[in-house]
Amino acid sequence: MAIDLVTRSEWGARAPKGAYSYLASTRGVKIHYTGGRVDPRTLTDHSRCVAAVRAIQAMHMDGNGWIDIGYTAVACAHRKVFVGRGPHHLPAANGPGLNSGHYAVLGLVGTSGVTHPPDAMLHGIRDAIEWLRREGGAGPEIKGHRDGYPTDCPGGPLYAWVRAGAPRPPVKPEPTPKPEPEEDMPEIVSLGLENEVVVPANCDYQPWWTTEWKDTAGWHPAGGQSIAPDEPVWADITTHIALRGFRPNDPVEVGLTRHRNDGKLVDVAWPIGKLATVHADADGRVEVDLNGHFKLDKDKRARVTIRHTSATTVHLETSSAFKAILYRY
Ligand SMILES: [Zn+2]
Ligand SMILES: [Zn+2]
Repeated sequence: MAIDLVTRSEWGARAPKGAYSYLASTRGVKIHYTGGRVDPRTLTDHSRCVAAVRAIQAMHMDGNGWIDIGYTAVACAHRKVFVGRGPHHLPAANGPGLNSGHYAVLGLVGTSGVTHPPDAMLHGIRDAIEWLRREGGAGPEIKGHRDGYPTDCPGGPLYAWVRAGAPRPPVKPEPTPKPEPEEDMPEIVSLGLENEVVVPANCDYQPWWTTEWKDTAGWHPAGGQSIAPDEPVWADITTHIALRGFRPNDPVEVGLTRHRNDGKLVDVAWPIGKLATVHADADGRVEVDLNGHFKLDKDKRARVTIRHTSATTVHLETSSAFKAILYRY
């Protein structure tokens, strides 16, 4: 990654009050901290970094009487490098007699507030070092201000990093992506009848299924009226209903219905909003296949509803079935 320089005009630097002394090359770079408080908001708000650098320049020019900010460059928490005096110019921050040997690079940390350099700042300092080697004839040395001068600068954390050779922080590995959950195998519930069932005359009726052909999740208690999953599912439901005993052309309504656990009807899945009306054939039989798509959560259950107003008792034949493919959601 190329160095991300903040030019002097970008940070609003004042012009130097005098001419810089020219430096053809140095033995290397010395690292500094501010020695004071660094506002933690500089970690998240780069405009605070800019303000901090301008304040340091003002202190060096107006307080110390220097011609300019004393540092060659300043690195902030955003991996940006502010151009201070820049390459080939004598810095002022290393101490009397020590400026021609090393450029001076400040990390925007201090004795309070921000005291530990974030990784991006260490990268920024490293970017500045390499930039000064490339553009300013800096030699290989990387030292702290305290090397050769009585000061705590650049503070413990930064100095430890300097002593370690100012390595670039390791690139943090991308978090290992969680393995894709295995495709949920749908559960299948298939209910039927062992024997023909008597359907009373003139009734609104939900068959009681006596046989469980398949129930992969064990969700369904053997026997019952409902498909009632233990957890929320999308349910693709099909039913085959075969009834006999009507008079020819008797109407009968059949549908897939959704109920609360107390049995109260919630809605009809097919056809939308109402049951399907079919008519008995010449032999008094009704045969119908329906399918529907229900969302079933823990207090919803699916049933088949049969309504008829015939005066005769009819029978639900054993070919009838009630099946569901259930997908967890
Ligand atoms: Zn220093
Ligand atoms: Zn910044």
